[in-house]
Amino acid sequence: MANPWYKEYSEYLAERWPGLKVQKLSVDAGFSCPNRDGTIGSGGCIYCDNSSFTPGYCNPRQSVAGQLAEGRRFFSRKYPHMKYLAYFQSFTGTHASATERLRQLYDEALAQPDVVGLIIGTRPDSLPENVMDLLSEINHRRRVIVEIGAETSHDATLRRINRRHTWQDVEDAALRLSKRGIECGLHLIAGLPGESSDDVLVTVERACRLPIASIKLHQLQVIRGTILDRLRRSGEIQVTPFSIEEYLDLCVKVVRLIDRRVAIERFLASAPPEMVEAPRWGLKNYQFTNLLLNRLAESSPRSYGQCLSDPDTQRNDN
Ligand code: SF4
Repeated sequence: MANPWYKEYSEYLAERWPGLKVQKLSVDAGFSCPNRDGTIGSGGCIYCDNSSFTPGYCNPRQSVAGQLAEGRRFFSRKYPHMKYLAYFQSFTGTHASATERLRQLYDEALAQPDVVGLIIGTRPDSLPENVMDLLSEINHRRRVIVEIGAETSHDATLRRINRRHTWQDVEDAALRLSKRGIECGLHLIAGLPGESSDDVLVTVERACRLPIASIKLHQLQVIRGTILDRLRRSGEIQVTPFSIEEYLDLCVKVVRLIDRRVAIERFLASAPPEMVEAPRWGLKNYQFTNLLLNRLAESSPRSYGQCLSDPDTQRNDN
């Protein structure tokens, strides 16, 4: 039985690839980011450290094919029938010197065994028309999903965290992708400097007005050695991390705002503990999800009874 409170990402994938078990497999294709390499800026977003969320099997010195083979070996021991979505996660997955280079990398990924589609993480301002043309063309033969780093709908916060794009850029990118028939998901962060829980809810509301298929939300993590870490230590920026209880309360409200048209991919970032300055919750994704399901159940016990009868509900994913 489906989770009664929100559409899970696994449900979304099952709708797109009926009858198959599908999961993301990250690749680091050696892309840079326009907010780091001088194209639009050089400092990067103040909280960013790509190594905090890149799996160990991703090594840009290895080819895309080699990384996918390694990832497949890792997962196929436990899940021999699993199919994969090559996930261009690191930095900006549409930022290359030439569109032909992008085509080569995407086609290399799609040529690997058991790879059934692409997920490309990018910035809202890194989707020029020639890249859109390429994504559209590939999407006609194999499904492409674009994940846009939006983070917040509040332009003052976007400036504060040095994103160097606006919410209007996010809206434009989502609409342009939708017109091309390419599904898109938004990445959002809760607890950015200067933002309240209500600000996060406004962002979620605005996101839900866009033609998107999924939302990935997580709490702000202060990663050791980032600009955010330095500014926080010097007192130039205030960061007040959520407690687990506060974040659970916020996520309950977020779930209530999102109808089943939009899947929720996750609620928790979980960088390696030794990299995290704050907050140090020590929770894995499945542990937080189970806490949230219990919290949702407290407000809707009948649905929870139905949910408990489903063995998939009390998951143990990562
Ligand atoms: S978060 Fe993304 S856009 Fe920002 S600096 Fe890092 S890779 Fe670039």
